Amino acid sequence: MQEATASQVSLTARHIDGLIEALREDGYTVVGPTVADSAIVYDEIASTADLPEGWTDMQQPGKYRLSRRDDRALFGYAVGPHSWKKYLFPSSLKLWSTERAEDGALKIEAGPEEVPKYAFIGVRGCEMAAIRVQDRVFAGGRHHDSDYMTRRESAFIVAVNCGQAAETCFCTSMGTGPAVESGYDIALTELLDEAEPRYVAEAETSIGAAYLQRLGAADATAQDAEAAQQVVEKTVASITKELDTDGIKEMLYGSREDNRWDDVASRCLSCTNCTMVCPTCFCHSVTETSDLQMSSFEHTRQWDSCFSMEFTYVAGGVVRDTTRSRYRQWLTHKLGSWIDQFGTSGCVGCGRCIAWCPVGIDITEEAAALRKSHESSPKEVEDAT
Ligand code: SF4
Ligand code: SF4
Repeated sequence: MQEATASQVSLTARHIDGLIEALREDGYTVVGPTVADSAIVYDEIASTADLPEGWTDMQQPGKYRLSRRDDRALFGYAVGPHSWKKYLFPSSLKLWSTERAEDGALKIEAGPEEVPKYAFIGVRGCEMAAIRVQDRVFAGGRHHDSDYMTRRESAFIVAVNCGQAAETCFCTSMGTGPAVESGYDIALTELLDEAEPRYVAEAETSIGAAYLQRLGAADATAQDAEAAQQVVEKTVASITKELDTDGIKEMLYGSREDNRWDDVASRCLSCTNCTMVCPTCFCHSVTETSDLQMSSFEHTRQWDSCFSMEFTYVAGGVVRDTTRSRYRQWLTHKLGSWIDQFGTSGCVGCGRCIAWCPVGIDITEEAAALRKSHESSPKEVEDAT
């Protein structure tokens, strides 16, 4: 039987309520899953009453539906259309503004307004991996994004090991789930073997341990630790979608002229949905707006997408003017050249781009088709950079 580790404790939903309350008392804006617009989305929460108790999700290519469960699980779903990037890398952010005073002097106001201190409740393994990917993008190189770093450094993370996967999940192929690997303050596993859900919790940081201590919870028993392990093993066994990552970068670099790009372009609407829901996509543009008197100006950073025509407008022309070239750029970057750029894949296997693609294009199917074609007539590997 699995031994409970020193920091594993047993919690009930009442303890989770106590945790949310303690975090709010300490000045955190607590964000978690909640049901709105027929989906599980992330929003500010005040207690477990705001969590999606007894709800689950069904996901397939181009499909997402909520339905009732026959238990009171608080985390009995996979992932919805939102990801935590909307809090760490907001979709619209004022960077700076200028105002001309009556005497003609220019007043410059720097930076976004005060950044909230967030506590995220319910972060999944793939989502934690996506945060680590964005850490490399925004804080890993020579130039750091100060807004991202402020939000990230103050964030408190309560992760959840998945007790259920969607048909669109392929975290096991990407090595990102369904258990949360690292980077959290507290990780929970939901046990549904009794009428009321119970939780095995463990802390990874001292601040996480301090919150668990404040809750006054009892140590987890060896049986509960074993049950928590089985939850994860059952989820692993239920995942059927796969992505073969073996030599994928070289395969994609050698598939630049493959006919499959025409095939996918005949289905793709270039709608940008896949990039908006993706927890790692970070393309953005900066716009400048002014008042009619041209006395005040505001610079705003907004999410953009490699699927939008304007995004590739450079020096008087659009660089990628076909859907074929835009889809090829997205998939090749996500699964291939991201590795050269950031030392990791840009995909964590969350499946959001599959469920939220209006025509049901599946990144794993496209990669498999390209591999099949590549293996039947290997092309010379070209450097995509
Ligand atoms: S590419 Fe698709 S499956 Fe991969 S991380 Fe982005 S949304 Fe998730
Ligand atoms: S792959 Fe799907 S979601 Fe992405 S741009 Fe094309 S149609 Fe839209």
